[in-house]
Formats: sequence, structure tokens, C-alpha cells
Amino acid sequence: MWQRRLPELPPWPVSPRPFPEEALGSWLGRVAARYRMSVQHLCDEHELRLDFETSRAGWLVLPVVADPTIRQLARLARLEEDRLQEIQTTTSEATNWRIQFYCARCLFLNPVDVAAPRWKRVWLDPEVTVCEVHGTPLVSVASSALHRCKNFDQTLKIIGRIELKRTSELPGLRDMRHSRH
Ligand SMILES: [Zn+2]
Repeated sequence: MWQRRLPELPPWPVSPRPFPEEALGSWLGRVAARYRMSVQHLCDEHELRLDFETSRAGWLVLPVVADPTIRQLARLARLEEDRLQEIQTTTSEATNWRIQFYCARCLFLNPVDVAAPRWKRVWLDPEVTVCEVHGTPLVSVASSALHRCKNFDQTLKIIGRIELKRTSELPGLRDMRHSRH
């Protein structure tokens, strides 16, 4: 019988570089956004085995990714494997959280490249509750809201909307926001 395997797909023509402080899922979401497709579609097309459906926040908060998949991603993006290994989270703990945390100023203002917002890996650390740069408490977003996003552009849109609402709300109403999800 013929082995029904597609020939190895060529690397992506262009792909965003990962930032050292970025979470792996954030980078993957940016790659998908670059090609205007969903992360799911990107994975299907390249037979990438990423178990992101087990994460409450979907692809943005990836469980620890196995070495062969990291190798495959590195080849597609023409990167050293180490660049991607370095941005893996060491634990998959955050995949179980019902809410995720972020600092809006850090998310939208990347000091290295203002045109490239990214989700920081440190926000997936259960010990971290305050922004390391701004000293302000991290704010939360429902994991389910992130799970619905198809790529990182959609994530930014959703967070942008939440931020607009949050900054226009009276302080006393803020806590009600989460109970709606
Ligand atoms: Zn910050």
C-alpha cells in the first residue's frame, strides 16, 4: 500500500519572530493572524499536533508542547528550536484556569516593537499577580472568551473591547463584569 503521507510542506514564506518574553501560544496566534487564518486551520494544514483544546483558554495558553512538534514549528518558521523551547511554559498549570491575567499596557505596548503586541509568558505564572514593569495588579479575562478567538488579532480585539468597557465603568461595577461570563 502507498503510504498516504503528504510530502514535507515548505517553510512559511514569512513568520513573525518570537519575543523572548512572549508565550508560545501568543507567537502561534500571531503566525496564524499573519496568514489571516485560525490557529486550528494552521495546525490542520501542517499536521501540527498541538493539544490546545485541553486548555480552557485554547491555543493562547498551550500545554507543554512535545519536542517533535517544536522541531516542526521551528522548521516551518525557519527558527532555531531553542528560540521556541525558550518561550514554552514549563508547566501546563495555567491551562486549567477559568480566568487568565494580563497587563493591558504591556500587552499593547511592546517596547521592542510597538506594532507587535504579544501575550507575556510571565502572566501564566501562578505566583505573579502584579505587572513586573508597571507595578499595577494584573487584570483578568475569562479563559472562555480567549478560547473563542481564532487568532491573535481576534484576541487583541476582544481585550481592546474589554479594556474600553473597564476604563469607562464605575469602579463599583467592575466586579460584576466577571460574573457575566
Ligand atoms: Zn505592565
